[in-house]
Amino acid sequence: MIKYIQVKTILNTVKGSDDWFGLKYNLNLYRGCTHRCIYCDSRSECYQIENFDHDIIVKENALELLQKELPKKRVRGTVGFGSMNDPYQHIEKKLNMTVRALEIMREWDMPVHLITKSNLVLRDIRILKEIGKIYSAVSFTITTGITLMPVLPFITDTEDNIISIVEKAKEYGAKYIIPAFGMTLRDRQRAYYYDRLDEKFPGLSDKYRAKYKNYYSAGAPGYKKLSKVFYEKCAELGILTKIPKYNAGIGIQGTLF
Ligand code: SF4
Repeated sequence: MIKYIQVKTILNTVKGSDDWFGLKYNLNLYRGCTHRCIYCDSRSECYQIENFDHDIIVKENALELLQKELPKKRVRGTVGFGSMNDPYQHIEKKLNMTVRALEIMREWDMPVHLITKSNLVLRDIRILKEIGKIYSAVSFTITTGITLMPVLPFITDTEDNIISIVEKAKEYGAKYIIPAFGMTLRDRQRAYYYDRLDEKFPGLSDKYRAKYKNYYSAGAPGYKKLSKVFYEKCAELGILTKIPKYNAGIGIQGTLF
């Protein structure tokens, strides 16, 4: 179901430093996410998003607020699209909220980082390249079988998988890959994930419970070895393992990954 709401503010300043993406501000035009990744951390209780998978809430006055709030920001810094949901929801094709927000970013010369799993981002490549004269980066999430590794015997060639992922990324021109060897697990997000696992593999969640208890960070088994393989391969192929962040005066044009 699509719902429309009015919000009071739209551009949130990131507290502290964002080591992953170097964001200064966060922008979420929608609430909820129709991509429905079963491991999504945005289902956690702290984010207070009810019906995460079924309702898309459109912040109807978001663009109007953005036009007002952006000129008041004293510090130019990277605006992150997609921290709590994918900025390319299915409804984006019709509503064009993300592309219009990008136009506002271009108007005010604001650097942008965008994270997505949708190829709808290709629609906006031209404008992202224009913003790239200041700074723009697009990161694509690639989910692997590593989160299922603890108990699925048929995933045996994971080191080879890692090598082939890095090689493919190189082939397609990726400049960076930020690795995460595992996933997060907490409260209702954990419960949702375990339910989905049990639908496909009855009883599998019991093995997770035994292994990860109430931990928030669930590292993939053998992640030290896997990360060694990953970093060595990236070094060999010249792929960065951190995102090149916006630095005033330095523009990185059209950075992908
Ligand atoms: S695309 Fe991102 S925000 Fe959306 S469900 Fe998947 S992990 Fe969650």
